[in-house]
Amino acid sequence: MQQVQLAIELVELGARIQVLESETELSRARLLKLYKEVRGNSPPRGMLPFSTDWFVTWLPNIHSSLFYNFYLQLTLVHGCQRMDGFVKAYRMYLEQMQLDGAEPVLGLTRAWTLLRFFESELLELMPCQSCGGRFVVHAHTPGQDFVCGICAPPSRAGTARRAFEGHHGERILPAAGLKVSGPAVGSPADVSGHIRGLSASRP
Ligand SMILES: [Zn+2]
Repeated sequence: MQQVQLAIELVELGARIQVLESETELSRARLLKLYKEVRGNSPPRGMLPFSTDWFVTWLPNIHSSLFYNFYLQLTLVHGCQRMDGFVKAYRMYLEQMQLDGAEPVLGLTRAWTLLRFFESELLELMPCQSCGGRFVVHAHTPGQDFVCGICAPPSRAGTARRAFEGHHGERILPAAGLKVSGPAVGSPADVSGHIRGLSASRP
């Protein structure tokens, strides 16, 4: 059954129980049981702690922007349904981190919160005036002089930035629009083309 499959996939990727309750029609009891079966322990209790601010701090912002560009590409360009696109985009994000030898900063539950913040128009994408990539910002951020965290990293970010770039200079996210590589997404040029196309077609 599709709902169960989705729930299992989400739990495997690290979803908290609130995500499952929102995105499936399965009962809480069923979800708890499922969660225990997949993870081998009970889900953590409590509310989701995330605010929009986390997504606009330097390194989380780069990761969040990459993930959300994947999501838009899958849903708007490739026609994936919302949750299908979400799960695929999250897998692409993890794959990209693996290719870059970087630690994933964006957990699945956070990625889902990000999606919800976009859907409630608390966050939006803003083109970087330097590289043209589109990055997550608070809604209603003035955009005239916006420069992203890759083009203008904070000085203390040097070490983290190198770690993020890994040993493949060409695999940093940056320049012509959040370049990404990997079998699922075509060439970097294709992707930056898609992202620019998206920015042209969205209000
Ligand atoms: Zn930039």
